[in-house]
Amino acid sequence: MALPRLNESSQYILNIPSTNEELKYRPFLIKEQKLLLIAYESQDQKQIINAILNCVANCTDNAYDVNKLSTFDVDYIFTKIRSKSVGEKVTINAKCPSCSHDNDVEIDLDQIKLTGDVKPSTVKITEDISLKMKYPSYYDFTMNEKIMNTDRMGTEILFEMLITCMDSILTEDEHISLKDESKEEIETFVNSLTSEQFAKVREFIEKIPKITLNMEYTCLDCNKKHKHNLEGLQDFFS
Ligand SMILES: [Zn+2]
Repeated sequence: MALPRLNESSQYILNIPSTNEELKYRPFLIKEQKLLLIAYESQDQKQIINAILNCVANCTDNAYDVNKLSTFDVDYIFTKIRSKSVGEKVTINAKCPSCSHDNDVEIDLDQIKLTGDVKPSTVKITEDISLKMKYPSYYDFTMNEKIMNTDRMGTEILFEMLITCMDSILTEDEHISLKDESKEEIETFVNSLTSEQFAKVREFIEKIPKITLNMEYTCLDCNKKHKHNLEGLQDFFS
């Protein structure tokens, strides 16, 4: 006999940061929480991202393709879902920079803000050539072995991120969409940038919006006051 289904309707509403559209959502349930816990235990980046995407897809109205949402949209939506599921308060471990004491600091997920501009900018390369940029999605990351297999923001990752974030090249009379170009062709273009031009695109990557929260605490051991900026999903849940 089919048992009744519990808690499957969406009862909350949020605004998607990049588009400001309303999105209905519900808290995550044991089935999603189980997948999240298993993923965190595995400490495998790809598995964690997939569990988060799966949770966001399950808990929001299904008109949305989560693979197309930018990373900060997913981070924001996931934080909202999580705070309605297991509470707004999260305990973060903060190592005191003065005495190295491990402090438990409680933060409020409802205080999380987004840094940066949710509309991607256009980067001017020369007088007549500009790059139209786009923000990456987690799907883009999981499809890229080089990004997934390194946790440092090294030169190679920067290069891969840059290629992922390039949408099209604008010249005086042309709009060249890069999704129709081969990766080799795009790499040749990036390799032909001067370091000054590269720095401008690099700045775009560094300014990709992130969820953030300014945490203030007094160390329980040495009594010193500290401020620490939490940034990105891994700073909040790990
Ligand atoms: Zn201390």
